[in-house]
Amino acid sequence: MNIQKVPHVVIIGAGFGGLEAAQKLASAPVRVTIIDRHNYHLFQPLLYQVAIAGLVPSQIAYPLRTIFRRHPNVDFLMSEVSSIDFASRYVKANGSVIAYDYLILSVGGQTNFFGMQEVEQYGFQLKNVESAVETRNHLLHVFEEASREVDAERRRALLTFVIVGGGPTGVETAGALAELITHVMAKDYPYMDLTEVRVILIEATSSVMMAYPEGLRKATRRLLHNKNVEIMENTRLIGYNGLQVTLADETTIDTHTLIWTAGVRSAEITDRLGVPQTVGRRIRVEPTLQLPGHPEVFVIGDAAYLEDEHGQSLPMLATVAQQEAKAAARNIEKILKEEQPRPFHYKDPGLLATIGRNAAVARIWGLSFSGFIAWVIWVGLHIYRLIGFRNRILVLINWAWDYFFYENQVRLITKE
Ligand SMILES: Cc1cc2nc3c(=O)[nH]c(=O)nc-3n(C[C@H](O)[C@H](O)[C@H](O)COP(=O)(O)OP(=O)(O)OC[C@H]3O[C@@H](n4cnc5c(N)ncnc54)[C@H](O)[C@@H]3O)c2cc1C
Repeated sequence: MNIQKVPHVVIIGAGFGGLEAAQKLASAPVRVTIIDRHNYHLFQPLLYQVAIAGLVPSQIAYPLRTIFRRHPNVDFLMSEVSSIDFASRYVKANGSVIAYDYLILSVGGQTNFFGMQEVEQYGFQLKNVESAVETRNHLLHVFEEASREVDAERRRALLTFVIVGGGPTGVETAGALAELITHVMAKDYPYMDLTEVRVILIEATSSVMMAYPEGLRKATRRLLHNKNVEIMENTRLIGYNGLQVTLADETTIDTHTLIWTAGVRSAEITDRLGVPQTVGRRIRVEPTLQLPGHPEVFVIGDAAYLEDEHGQSLPMLATVAQQEAKAAARNIEKILKEEQPRPFHYKDPGLLATIGRNAAVARIWGLSFSGFIAWVIWVGLHIYRLIGFRNRILVLINWAWDYFFYENQVRLITKE
């Protein structure tokens, strides 16, 4: 086969969607170039574990070149894509021009601060390796500062941690942070009065875990209360200046730590493509995942906006991105065979979130679980979904160590 003569599929983004699409197309009669600004695939669902000093970044990331070693028709290019010319069918990445026959746009999302510039400036986020390590350094740093602070008011502000967003990421972060403090920091700082610590979870809607059934929302509240997390529902944050949070009812909370998990929008490049965007600046696609007017372009994952048969937008989840990736790859193969592309239907595998050790909430195959069983499912599934045998073993050992010895092993303040 003359590799230059087969159709060229360019995939932008090697996250959950892009990676799955490339793997699916590895056995198709096409040449694939997958482009990402990073040389690794990142397992974002465990980023919060990096932030709470439970895991190191290399345990949740995997080099892309290693993944594609065994696929001769897949080329990886580490580059930042700056523009796409849909009419002439090429992308520009770090000065190079890369022509395509088919394009899969899988650039993911980024944190949405809804225009609150101060929150963006002073708050912490969990979106990439850098932001998670920055959060970890900060969390460990405030404990060092608090341990030598004689002013009680400032010490209490240092020991107040506000997490905004009661979805799975906020809930998981709040639960894990509360445990880090009670199980680990209590031993590291034996002379500090940890009753001064507050972990506060703020949620603008009427409930944490809004997408979950009522029973699991209740279970989430109970599990968080058990870990001394204060839950503030129906509460909207309107400002943060690095020292004080302001709420919509004008009450304030003194804190040196705000972790923002309350919004996601599509990646910044989608603003520069000249295509219509909708909720969360996502790109509206045809049911077949094709870009309207450009049947050779597929948009998938967090960057794409598609509604299900009930008119609900598909959530920004790894499971959606992976299923869409398979469907887009299949549709490209169909077009190559001169068949009609098929509409995409999401099969919801359920929802799962952990709230520290022995505690999680899950909705799987229509059944709801909470507590230990859900936690075991969570651990098993996350180990299974990690890429690389070495990472799976390392994460398992790390978690087992933390579980039995109540230690988060990565308590290093570094300049990574
Ligand atoms: C903290 C956190 C926890 C989460 N927990 C869960 C969970 O428990 N379960 C779940 O299902 N989902 C979870 N998600 C959501 C899930 O990670 C996303 O839905 C999923 O990653 C979307 O896949 P994607 O392929 O669209 O984008 P991504 O996986 O984000 O990949 C996008 C890729 O595109 C690259 N890229 C972007 N712009 C450019 C550019 N201009 N040039 C080159 N490369 C570019 C990025 O570097 C990235 O590698 C979580 C997300 C976060 C942030």
